[in-house]
Amino acid sequence: MLRVGLTGGIGSGKSTVSALLRDHGAVVIDYDQLAREVVEPGAPALSAIAERFGPDVLAADGTLNRPALGSIVFTDEQARRDLEAITHPAIRELAHRREQETDAAVVVHDNPLLVEMGAHEHCDVVLVVDVPEDVQVQRLVNLRGMTEAEARARMAAQASRNDRAAVADHVIDNSGSEAELAGTVGGLWAQLTDS
Ligand code: ADP
Repeated sequence: MLRVGLTGGIGSGKSTVSALLRDHGAVVIDYDQLAREVVEPGAPALSAIAERFGPDVLAADGTLNRPALGSIVFTDEQARRDLEAITHPAIRELAHRREQETDAAVVVHDNPLLVEMGAHEHCDVVLVVDVPEDVQVQRLVNLRGMTEAEARARMAAQASRNDRAAVADHVIDNSGSEAELAGTVGGLWAQLTDS
């Protein structure tokens, strides 16, 4: 099994690349999905979060109150680290389980926080989708309905382009068209799978 790490800043086109790799036959482990699963009611991480941050981070129906938790961790660095110390190990464990459940030749770890979690170290190949920051902002504003300030705040909370590029085996430039991106990913797939 070839373990491929895939990451990129918000709005870079990571999800688009992930879908292309899936079309080529990869099994994709979506870490945004895992991050939601580990805090579902009944999950140990949710109890640990309620214990650390207090009952106000739970909604009346027992689910996680994301805005309440978000407002705590967005402004408090230590709180964010505490939250990650609860969720990241749970996410890693779930990813490992998902990987064991498949016999696919290529498994893609589609993880916006690949670098921040240090998860790139467990991958055979690291792909980083990259665009200049102004293109990132422009796509987030035009296609995702964010304001420019929101887009820049989200970007500032993530690893920098340089941090990601430093661990990349392949940087996928997505400043061209989606058709060009599909061509680049097709070429990479052939290279990775010797097909
Ligand atoms: P990410 O997962 O990195 O946040 P997405 O793959 O969702 O980014 O891409 C962000 C937005 O930009 C989406 O609406 C997507 O359709 C669009 N997009 C992706 N690549 C391109 C491209 N090369 N040209 C124009 N729009 C693109």
